[in-house]
This record gives sequence, C-alpha cells and structure tokens, in this order.
Amino acid sequence: MALSGIFDVLVIGAGPTGMACAIEAQRAGLKAVLVDKGCLCNSLFNYPAHMTFFTTPELLEIGNIPFSSPNQKPTRSEALEYYRKVAENYRLDVRQYERVDKVTGSDGQFVVHTEDRFGRTLQHQAKKIVVATGYYDLPNYLGLPGEDLPKTMHYYNEPHPYFGLDVLVIGGKNSAAIAALDLWRHGARVTLVHRGPAMHSHVKYWILPDINNRIKNGEIKAYFSSVVKLINEDTVTLTTPEGETTIANHFVFALTGYRPDFEFLEALGVRLDENNSRCPVCDPQSLESNVPGVYLAGVIIAGERTNEVFIENGRFHGAQIARDLTSKLS
Ligand SMILES: Cc1cc2nc3c(=O)[nH]c(=O)nc-3n(C[C@H](O)[C@H](O)[C@H](O)COP(=O)(O)OP(=O)(O)OC[C@H]3O[C@@H](n4cnc5c(N)ncnc54)[C@H](O)[C@@H]3O)c2cc1C
Repeated sequence: MALSGIFDVLVIGAGPTGMACAIEAQRAGLKAVLVDKGCLCNSLFNYPAHMTFFTTPELLEIGNIPFSSPNQKPTRSEALEYYRKVAENYRLDVRQYERVDKVTGSDGQFVVHTEDRFGRTLQHQAKKIVVATGYYDLPNYLGLPGEDLPKTMHYYNEPHPYFGLDVLVIGGKNSAAIAALDLWRHGARVTLVHRGPAMHSHVKYWILPDINNRIKNGEIKAYFSSVVKLINEDTVTLTTPEGETTIANHFVFALTGYRPDFEFLEALGVRLDENNSRCPVCDPQSLESNVPGVYLAGVIIAGERTNEVFIENGRFHGAQIARDLTSKLS
C-alpha cells in the first residue's frame, strides 16, 4: 500500500472551497494537499454543459486571483478555466480521481485512506483534515417506482439527445426551470411537474418570467400541486388536483436537489445537529468540528440547507480555517 508524505493539512474535495482552504493554508506556510474523487472542481465539471453562473465573476474569486470575463456572469467553461489557472498559479498539490473512503488516527496524526480509479488503495498522513465535499454527488431520491429506470436522470447536461421527444422535468427551482427552458428551446416536448402551487420563489428573477411565460403560452405544460406516481418505459403517471393522468414520456429529469454525504461525516465522528437541518457541529469561528483536528468548509456546513452556502460565501472558509491552523501548528 502506497504511503505518501506527511502533510500539515489534507483537504478532502477539490472544489472552489477546498481549493481556497489549500491556498490559504499554503499562504500561511503550511504543506497542503487536496484529494478529490473526480477531477479538479468535479461538481462544476458536472454542471449543465452550457450553464451560466448566477454570480458575477469577482464573487467566485479565490486566492486573490482576479476572474475576468467578457460576460456579466461567467459560463461553466470560463469558471473551469479560471480554477485551473488558480491551481497552476499556486502550484496546488491535487490528487485527482482518488476517493477518500475513511480517515483513521487522531489530531496531529491522521491517516486518510483513499482508492483510485483502478481500485488501488493509498494512504496519506496529515496533521489536520479539512472536509469540503460539497453536496452535488448525492441526489435527493424521490423513492418512486421507475426512478431506477435508465431513462430517469438526476443530473441535466445538455438538450440535444432529447430533440423531438417527450421529457418530464420534476422540480420547481432553478435547476428545473433552466433545464425545462433549455430542453424546450432545443426541440423537446416538455412537461414540468412540481409539488408546489407555482414555481418556487427562489427561482432567479431573470429566469422566473421566462419559465412562467412559456407555461402561460402552453409551450411548456406544467402541473403544479402535483406529484409523479409512477414512471414506466413509455409513460409517466401524475397525481394532480384534477386526478390521475398518464402521459407519453421518453425521459425524466428529477431535479429535486442534492444533499451532503452525511454518512461520510458521521463516519469521521462529526456529530450532526438533528434539530438544525443536520448541520454538522463545528465552531463558527475556526470551523473545527467536534472532532479535534477535523475542519469543515463550504456548503456542508449548512447541512440540509444547501442554498445557504455557495461559492460566493464558502470561499471565505479557507481563511477562517487557516487562521486556526496557523495558531495550532506554528
Ligand atoms: C447548476 C448550479 C449552479 C450554481 N451556480 C452558482 C453560482 O452562480 N454562484 C455560486 O456561488 N454558487 C453556485 N452554485 C452552488 C455552488 O456551485 C456550490 O455551492 C459549490 O460548488 C460548493 O463548493 P464546495 O467546494 O463546497 O463543493 P463542490 O464544488 O461540490 O466540491 C466538492 C468536491 O468534493 C469531492 N468529493 C466529494 N466526496 C469526496 C470523497 N469522499 N473523496 C474525495 N473527494 C470527494 C467532489 O468530487 C467535489 O469535487 C451552483 C450550483 C449548481 C448545482
């Protein structure tokens, strides 16, 4: 079993937050390494191919590196380019395609056990651990019959494969609205179903009129206050206020959100506050969890309230953690 050197800090997850943590640790003179089960910024890489961020570029910046874009809001590929350049600039040590399975040891002498794409196991030793694993890997499953059919997906990528076909989008927030509009604009016949009485109030102010007008014009058929009862190979059955209806269907996008890997956190010994949206217990200043030497960063801090921490604010967790690391390790 390969054993790499001893790091001051090992960051699990090389998303924007994890990168900010490694950068701030390095700037404080510490030896940092990032480990990600996918590529650099794996979640962003898996976002819809042609997406545009909701945020202006300067609010996505980390490590004091300017993010310039000719667009008011940057695209996914611009953001990926930006974060690659940041990683290069800081010469970040990123171990890609290594999934962290477990962490053993204790404060000052952790051992991080990983597995690579070929099932080979590796170990890294680190004095401190930062967990920045995000929330995009685990969809909120609906538990519907047919949800496991290959035609049912929980991630939307691009519209072309659905041209001329009947597509159902489940959900009422940004992801569902954006996917429904994109699919409709590229020739799919789109039906949207949402359990709420209208599109969610969190839908961005420039997207909401677009989706509402498409629905009003009958270009996208929407069922509100409705749920999916059953997904079959060729149809879906919905329960609506007017009763059950079965419609033709080729593909389903269940865009009902994602959740942090709570089991992973619990396996590390991190306690979850069951009375507060399963927020992991941590010091609000240092972001050190109840497990000494294990810090938490990014969206995972907000537990099930995944819309409270995003790149805009999660990027500052790195500096908070680095301050505490410096005081303890120097
Ligand atoms: C479509 C969409 C659009 C968005 N637009 C915006 C926006 O405009 N502005 C904004 O501020 N936010 C936006 N967000 C939210 C933002 O992208 C996330 O909040 C942000 O990525 C969280 O950053 P993070 O570093 O905490 O987690 P992530 O970016 O999710 O990074 C976590 C990393 O951890 C890795 N990982 C997970 N488990 C393991 C493991 N066991 N071992 C090793 N690695 C692991 C993952 O592969 C991933 O690379 C958007 C989200 C979506 C879905």
